[in-house]
Order: sequence, then C-alpha cells, then structure tokens
Amino acid sequence: MPVVEPRIRNNVCLTSHPGGCAAIVKEQIDYVKKQGPIAMPKRVLVIGGSTGYSLSTRIAAAFGGGADTISVSFEKEPTERKPGTPGHYNNLAFDTYAREAGLKAVSLNKDAFSHETRREVVELVRETFGQVDLLVYSLASGVRPDPDTGEMYRSALKPLEEPYTALSVDFMNGEVSEVTIDPATDEDLRGTVKTMGGEDWTLWVDALLEAGLLAEGVRTVAYSYIGPAVTFPVYREGTIGKAKEHLEATAGTLGRKLASLKGEAFVSVNKALVTRASAVIPVVPLYISLLFRIMKEKGTHEGCIEQMYRMLADRVYGADGVVRDDQGLVRLDDWEMDPVVQQTVADLWDTITGDNIGSRADLEGYREDYLKLHGFGVEGIDYSRDVDLTRID
Ligand code: NAD
Repeated sequence: MPVVEPRIRNNVCLTSHPGGCAAIVKEQIDYVKKQGPIAMPKRVLVIGGSTGYSLSTRIAAAFGGGADTISVSFEKEPTERKPGTPGHYNNLAFDTYAREAGLKAVSLNKDAFSHETRREVVELVRETFGQVDLLVYSLASGVRPDPDTGEMYRSALKPLEEPYTALSVDFMNGEVSEVTIDPATDEDLRGTVKTMGGEDWTLWVDALLEAGLLAEGVRTVAYSYIGPAVTFPVYREGTIGKAKEHLEATAGTLGRKLASLKGEAFVSVNKALVTRASAVIPVVPLYISLLFRIMKEKGTHEGCIEQMYRMLADRVYGADGVVRDDQGLVRLDDWEMDPVVQQTVADLWDTITGDNIGSRADLEGYREDYLKLHGFGVEGIDYSRDVDLTRID
C-alpha cells in the first residue's frame, strides 16, 4: 500500500493515482450533467474509451445522452506495488458511476486490433444491446499487429522527405530547444498508415455489419487533427497526416457501406489537447501551451469533455444532424483555427526563448493538465496517504 507520486521520464508519466483518476472522471461527469441532456440514441460502442477523447465521448454519451456503453481499451492492470495505467482506473471509475446511475457499462481490457477481440465484442453487443446506434473509433497506438499475419507495424511521428527543425519544449522543466527530426523511411510511413489509418475502423464496421448489429440510422465517428502551419511538417504533412488522410478517406467508403441502413460515417477534427498521445509529439506541447494561453484569454478554451459534449450535442445529434464542412469533416477545431488565435500564436512563436516561455505560454496549464491525466494535482485528494492500488476509493 504505497504512497503514489508522479514519476516522469522524457515527458512520459510512469505512475498514476487511483483516487485522483476517479475524481477527474467524476469532474467530467459533473460537467456534462450541468450542460443538460443530449437527444441521442442509447447503444454506444467505443473502441478506445479509457482516456483522452474516447473517454470523454463515452462520458458525454452516457451522462448527457443516457446511453449504455461498451468500451474496448488496452490498459495495464496494477500490481501490489505498481499502479496500473490511468485508463485502468478511469474504466473502474466510469463503470462504477455509470452503474450507480442505472446505465449499462462494460469496459473490456483487450487488444482492439485482434480478430479475437472483435469476435468477443460482437457476441457481447448481441447479448447486451442487440444493436449499436453509435460506434466511436478513437484509438491512439504506437503499434499494431496485423490481425491476419501477426506482422508488427509501428507508427512514427516524422516529416516526409526533408528533415524538420523547429522549437520544442520539455514541458516539465520549461527547457526550450531546437529539435531536428529526420524524415520517415518508407517503412515508417507504411507502419503509421497501417496503425493509425482507417483499416482497423473498417474491420470493426464490417464485423458489426456482417453480424447484423448496426442499427438503422447508425453513426460512426473517428477523430483527426489538422492544426497550424507550424506543425504541418511533423503532423499534417508528415507520417501521421498521411494516416489521417487515410482515416478521412475511409469515412467516405464506410458511409457508402452504411447507406442502406441510412447510416453515416464521418471524421471529427478535434482541437489540440493535452493527452498521453499528444504529449510525445515534438513541437506540439509548445504549440498547445501557446494556444491555451490565448484561448483562455479569449474565453474559448475547451478540454476533451467540453469538445466531446459539443460534438454530440451540436454537431452529431443536434437539430441539423451531422454538421460537416465542404470536405465532409465535422469541425470541432473551429475555435482553435480562428484566424486571430492562429495569428497570435504565430507572432508569439517567433519570440519564444527559454527565458520568456514562462510568461508567454501557458506551460503551467499544460503541466497541470498532464498531471491530471494521471490523477495528480487534483483538489481534495490527500497524496500523502498510502493507497490500495487495486481500488479507486
Ligand atoms: P489517448 O492516448 O488518450 O487514448 C487512446 C485510447 O486508445 C485509450 O483508450 C487506449 O486504451 C486505447 N488503445 C490504444 N491501443 C489500443 C489497443 N491496441 N486496443 C484497445 N485500445 C487501445 O489518445 P487521444 O489523444 O484521445 O487520441 C484519440 C484520437 O483522437 C486519435 O485518433 C487522435 O489522433 C485524435 N486526436 C487527438 C488530438 C489531441 O490533441 N490529443 C486532437 C485531435 C484528434
């Protein structure tokens, strides 16, 4: 029963606090309840579901939309001395609070890329829901074993063709440095598209469709990001951008498959936020901490839960149905991409040094969000107390 403290190496936090994680889940639930109900159907399957955007979508659907939910995430369980990953505690907390609210909630801890998991989920959906009304596909993973051959694919965050040099920050100590990232190999590019593109989303839709488990009017959503020109070489025009293009094209193909059910498939482009996945993308923490400062000043700042509530309430199940731009994308990054916000970020970017970053960027807000993702820095939690790592209370 140890005391749990944050242990951070290379911008990766290796510990998490059970009660702190549960408190953050509760905070998100309380936010959603305050916003009022979402008129949406009630059977939701989330591929992902334990952290970041996927967890917030699940919370918004359950506590805003009154939905029953099944999720499939891949998290490490605790041992007696070592905490589990935050998603493990978030799942425990979500299931507890959802069941207390009279909602069905099943959180599977399995590799969503495997055919075996898909078969198990298909059976679970059949028994629990009968059919699915909303399929959320929100995985972020560095690796994907091919479900047929077992070959391991790895995703990379690299530019294409040319090396990319830009400012980056170590968000824990505020050190600013120039980083150069070498261009991707063909293998990097292939691995990233295989891992983060739309192939696995298609396999999920096909499996549910073939089993007759997608309801009339079903909707399925996956998440993407575009962002500012300054991150284009490493993001939108890099390996991950190619994977996102594949994901976006997949939405078109899936939409045609679902047409006979009057179903819809689409990609929502979300705002840049502090998640475990985005913290390890070079350059992105610096951009996010500049962006947060400006959006907070303007009063337009949102976190994952605000974004996902707005998506379901206004952009997916609002009066106008699925609201898309001329590329077919749902745009939740509208406030981030506001030209005034972007110009201010660009102007500040050129002035940033190790000496002034503390006053010009919201590094403190970044750090706070990052620690909270792991259940640390949460008000009301006594971090000096020993904790039972297997429980959230
Ligand atoms: P995250 O790391 O917080 O969550 C990833 C989820 O995937 C977790 O629930 C994890 O358990 C699950 N997962 C990973 N591998 C798995 C596997 N093999 N089997 C089952 N589950 C697995 O990530 P996030 O930042 O919320 O990203 C989710 C999506 O949103 C991604 O497509 C990402 O590109 C997109 N997005 C993120 C941002 C951002 O700033 N974070 C912005 C826009 C879009």
